[in-house]
Amino acid sequence: MDTILVVNAGSSSVKFQVFSVEGEGRLRRQLKGQMDGIGSRPRLRASGANGDPLADRAYPIETVPDVPAAMGVAGEWLRDELRIHPIAVGHRVVHGGPEYDRPVLIDHGVVARLERFVSLAPLHQPHNLSPIRSILAGFPTLPQVACFDTAFHRTHSAVADHYAIPHQLHAEGVRRYGFHGLSYEYIAKTLPQTAPGVAKGRVIVAHLGSGASMCALKGGQSVESTMGFTALDGLPMGTRPGQIDPGVVLYLISERGMSASNVQNFLYRDCGLKGLSGVSNDMRELEASQDAKAKLAIDYFVYRIGLNAGMLAAALQGLDAFVFTAGIGENSASIRARVGEQLGWFGVKLDPTENSRNARLISRPDSLIPVYVVPTDEELMIAQHTLALLVNTPSTNPRQERVS
Ligand code: AMP
Repeated sequence: MDTILVVNAGSSSVKFQVFSVEGEGRLRRQLKGQMDGIGSRPRLRASGANGDPLADRAYPIETVPDVPAAMGVAGEWLRDELRIHPIAVGHRVVHGGPEYDRPVLIDHGVVARLERFVSLAPLHQPHNLSPIRSILAGFPTLPQVACFDTAFHRTHSAVADHYAIPHQLHAEGVRRYGFHGLSYEYIAKTLPQTAPGVAKGRVIVAHLGSGASMCALKGGQSVESTMGFTALDGLPMGTRPGQIDPGVVLYLISERGMSASNVQNFLYRDCGLKGLSGVSNDMRELEASQDAKAKLAIDYFVYRIGLNAGMLAAALQGLDAFVFTAGIGENSASIRARVGEQLGWFGVKLDPTENSRNARLISRPDSLIPVYVVPTDEELMIAQHTLALLVNTPSTNPRQERVS
């Protein structure tokens, strides 16, 4: 069986999925797993396509000190115990910089170019690149594909891509990139089946997960995003503040004496729903809490989604459909109901019954704007890109070398 391995590596975990290649290039998910607690309490967990447990085992800390070691343990488990020898590996890479507007087959030159973008995403890019390097060293002819969170947004106009700062900084790469591109691309690709009447129109997609952003789609292409230079901007998130006056950062430095790395940690880890509520970064816990600050955090989240919807509708010059996706967007009927109220002035009317059962179409027939819930699948998007590049690049022979 031909399989594709999808890898999403972060600072303390490596998530992976395996897809089998079926007839006519269709892909079927075989398993999901992750090595987490890297460098602290390493643990391998995996489950099959139906959620059946395949592995749950702890490792001594010294055997999994870093991401390459974690990739090594996961790879060994796949090869030696499950006899899975992928024909290619697709990687989620957060930053493709200004140049990559689509996935790319990886070689040493590509890795060197992607290293240049480490300064644009210092918390993510090095970890994304590290399993790529270790696989390149161990299995040099195994095709690897980098799929970028920024690529889908490279269709933005110059005016949407700029900050009002001197041009030299834009040339250096200080631009409004936008992120969650693989999620938005998946939604744009599948929307014609869910909502054929509006998929080619003006659509706002709200990706509401631990990371959250919104994207304006016109004709299936991204024209605007709430995220910018980094994944800190836009909506409040689990632990990131979203839009914030840069003056706050100056205050933290000048009045609180915080260093650059303190500010970085603060903005990525201590703000957002967690910082505002003082209770949790997890929406389920906030919804269950009686704490007034948890309520304020939810109110703020919903309010900012409404504000940003207005901004994106202005970018689109109208609105034909609104889509919810990701952990909160797909599962929280109460957040969707609250957002639906915020969007009431657009003529949005949600159907409480359809909303409570997480139906695909959750708006009433008399709603001026139809509202959908579409589960996202970034890993499938990566597997599809990887297979497409493999098939369309004559020099990559899938059967030439497998991980063995
Ligand atoms: P993600 O990053 O897409 O996995 O989304 C994670 C977020 O989704 C967390 O804040 C979870 O609390 C939230 N979430 C997942 N399921 C639910 C649910 N049933 N109700 C509310 N929030 C949920």
